Amino acid sequence: HRPAAPDTAATPTHCPYCALQCGMNLTRVDGGTVEVSERADFPVNRGALCGKGRTAAAVLAPGARLTSPLVRSGDGGLVPAGWDEALDRIAGNLERTRAEYGADALGVFGGGGLTNEKAYALGKFARVVLGTSQIDYNGRFCMSSAAAAGTRAFGLDRGLPFPLEDIPRTGCVILVGSNPAETMPPSLRYFTELRENGGTLIVVDPRRTRTAEQADLHLAPRPGTDLALALGMLHLVVAEGRVDEAYVEERTSGWEEARAAAMAHWPEYVERITGVSVPELREAVRLFCTPDAAMVLTARGPEQQAKGTDTVGAWINLCLATGRAGRPRSGYGCLTGQGNGQGGREHGQKADQLPGYRRLTDPAARRHVAEVWGVDPDTLPGPGRSAYELLDALGTDVRSLLVMGSNPVVSAPRAAHVEERLRSLDFLAVCDVVLSETAELADVVLPVTQWAEETGTTTNLEGRVLLRRRAVTAPEGVRGDLEVLHGLAGRLGVEKGFPTDPEEVFEELRRASAGGPADYSGIDYRRLAEEDGVFWPCPAPPADTGTSTSTSTSTSTSTSTVPHPGTPRLFLDRFATDDGRARFAPVAHRPSAEEPDAEYPVLLTTGRVVAQYQSGAQTRRVAELNAAAPGPFVELHPRLAARLGAAEGDPLAVVSRRGRAVAPARITTGIRPDTVFMPFHWPGAGRANTLTNPALDPTSRMPEFKVCAVRVETVTS
Ligand code: SF4
Repeated sequence: HRPAAPDTAATPTHCPYCALQCGMNLTRVDGGTVEVSERADFPVNRGALCGKGRTAAAVLAPGARLTSPLVRSGDGGLVPAGWDEALDRIAGNLERTRAEYGADALGVFGGGGLTNEKAYALGKFARVVLGTSQIDYNGRFCMSSAAAAGTRAFGLDRGLPFPLEDIPRTGCVILVGSNPAETMPPSLRYFTELRENGGTLIVVDPRRTRTAEQADLHLAPRPGTDLALALGMLHLVVAEGRVDEAYVEERTSGWEEARAAAMAHWPEYVERITGVSVPELREAVRLFCTPDAAMVLTARGPEQQAKGTDTVGAWINLCLATGRAGRPRSGYGCLTGQGNGQGGREHGQKADQLPGYRRLTDPAARRHVAEVWGVDPDTLPGPGRSAYELLDALGTDVRSLLVMGSNPVVSAPRAAHVEERLRSLDFLAVCDVVLSETAELADVVLPVTQWAEETGTTTNLEGRVLLRRRAVTAPEGVRGDLEVLHGLAGRLGVEKGFPTDPEEVFEELRRASAGGPADYSGIDYRRLAEEDGVFWPCPAPPADTGTSTSTSTSTSTSTSTVPHPGTPRLFLDRFATDDGRARFAPVAHRPSAEEPDAEYPVLLTTGRVVAQYQSGAQTRRVAELNAAAPGPFVELHPRLAARLGAAEGDPLAVVSRRGRAVAPARITTGIRPDTVFMPFHWPGAGRANTLTNPALDPTSRMPEFKVCAVRVETVTS
């Protein structure tokens, strides 16, 4: 299952970017360049790739990336260094910090793009080698509210509890705060096929996005009010007698409280809060309730709010009251964003979790994982700070930081403050492919291998575990993240337990995950190479483990040595809660953390453009993508532009309580007049996250990226 001649043969693998994890082939052609080509046999994208995927090989070129470790020199610059010197310097500084301030003064910040093996090894490194509780990752900024709401309702979080292929077979999809036409274009065909099959698409978004343009119904609520929108729809479901009473009775708990909360949200009241009219609400309810199957899919819109967990909970309530969740071709799902956004949250780099998606506070989970790791469970630290709280503590409680696969200088909220906190550290080490804006601040930068240069697994937004194969040899001077952790662990006195072979790490991950909610124990590299991925949970046959293979969420169970087929569809028999019932959440509307006022009268919402990915660290270095999306902009309605006296392309300053960002005006009727939009992929003067509000959701600790109060000014040169 490993390519015999990785530099010459066409190797099937997966895109380095988003959670769709499109299949592609890579071939090294004459002159040493690498070509991306279609891989039509992979079912998720059937050969289709977006511009990011098509140009992904550009970042493999030696000129586009780091090929030597860098260390901060006496005069303050970063200069090339050998690997031993760089690793010695990191280990020495981590040791000094620990001796002076204690283990919790060491921080680790991971990423949702890391493979499962790296995420697993990083979590183990933090807890076993450093002994710190202070580890979290940028996935906290991505889907953590959906994860919290899904766990609360269903007892388990898997982004989509059904495969994408179910979308065209349902009757209606409500896409809430999701713009797949720009974020994962090949997935749009599922929604096109839905409509061709007679189904309907409802898009909830303050902007008329490319996705919203294809919808049968577009609802454009004021940013931060989609919780009220869902409650208004649930109110109408009850008032119009559309509740699936038998389902609610048999398969759920908590309905009376949730029903009472929804009934307090009259449609006219919801119209005043959201700006969505009562007839539009009624039409949405009719479209959603008429077919025998329907889905709600959320993305960052409802999730990246200081009430994100309850907002997603309100949409789940709608699914439960209408009998959609845990039924064929129906249910609630989250469209996770980052390449390994799903797997990245399952294997232990999250502040409150252990591998297998186990809770760090669960004594049985601690015992199980400690046994696999060969350590005393009492030595495992407890939960640490969430991502923003960790960044906010840099330079005070947390004195040294190791960053792997993340660029918080661009992607964190209140980014100028985060940048200042990073600068205040005693010591910063960054592992990355390129000299990102965060790496520029580091004392040591380690150049690491990337997707096509290493083997490893990711788990896509469907919960489908995939094998990314090594297709080309990394340039000289570059090493894998697993080698980095191995090298640091050895220098910090832990000689064993950090192999550099990803398959060896995966074999340990399988054991650590066995019996947990995200059970990978029945999956191995050979299977992944032979199949088009395997959906978790996939327990090992009892002969392999000596344990039962039945899971509370599987649609099928195994009691023999026959390999478990994996679980494409969850919850069809029962939910993963103790009593098998899904739980309603009694949620109510509340304002955003920051509402407009006289000083900051406009709402800002942030998001993405099709040609850039996340903080742009890789895609901004690809000429074709940069030409398509060269910089940030401020999208605003003609009425707001007229009030400001601004014309298309004029520089506008957007000012919030956190700072100021300047970018050219892009005037469109496709946005509400009370709202401006900025994409967040760029650093510098136009950095959108300079403005965003780090107010946190009390459960998921998700910052409020999607709504804050700003004023907009024309800039005179
Ligand atoms: Fe890559 Fe996502 Fe584009 Fe597919 S949709 S090619 S996974 S960036």
